[in-house]
Amino acid sequence: MTFGAVKEKFLDILFPPTCALCEAQLQTQKHAELCGNCWQLVKFITKPYCKICGLPLDYGDDNQVCLGCTQNKHNFDYARAAVVYGAIGKDLILKFKHGDKISLQKMLANWLLRAISELPSANVDKSSLILAPVSLHWTRLLMRKYNQAALLAKDINVKTKIPCALDLLKRTVMTKSQGRLGLNQRRANVKNAFQLNLKYKGNLCNKTVLLVDDVFTTGSTLNECAKVLRREGAKEVHVATIARTHHPWAAS
Ligand SMILES: [Zn+2]
Ligand SMILES: [Zn+2]
Repeated sequence: MTFGAVKEKFLDILFPPTCALCEAQLQTQKHAELCGNCWQLVKFITKPYCKICGLPLDYGDDNQVCLGCTQNKHNFDYARAAVVYGAIGKDLILKFKHGDKISLQKMLANWLLRAISELPSANVDKSSLILAPVSLHWTRLLMRKYNQAALLAKDINVKTKIPCALDLLKRTVMTKSQGRLGLNQRRANVKNAFQLNLKYKGNLCNKTVLLVDDVFTTGSTLNECAKVLRREGAKEVHVATIARTHHPWAAS
């Protein structure tokens, strides 16, 4: 047994790894954050899904577009998510977001990578991409201590070498939490809440911005960010999130 393996075994005995959701004991810390039972309940999004917003669909080919996208024009070009924001996806993200389960970062970053790999930008020259997180207002950052989207963006940058600008966008307005708002209220709440960081002025021409966040619900926040990026010259804006709601206008 190598020294590393002995150390790992020792750590497992000292701090028995448990499932992030149900706290069942796991065999080892090495492989997973979830037990087999919880893992089975995670709903990974697979095709068919809407070509534009990534909404899971019951049927259709690679060119299928959902009803919401036929009725609404988005400022982003494509959005993809790894899992459905159902009971399990929501629990995991809330645990990560509110700090008690920072250990989930690695697994969630892998899920975000899975969403990125489904985007058309997955195969383009990396030098034409800029990876950026949705920003928090500085007062919220003080309260939460970290921006979960920025942590994930950093991980993606390390794994993929896609150039990353963690401070590309600034949230200039302290918006209300979107959680309990309907679609129109959400749109109004985030309207004009973001600006491009001036140090990137003129840098977005011919670039595709890969915008990352934890959840896509109505897409209002991501759409507002994409509006700013477009206005500042971005060629395309692609969105990747860990999870998304199963219904385009669900406000969960
Ligand atoms: Zn479990
Ligand atoms: Zn759609």
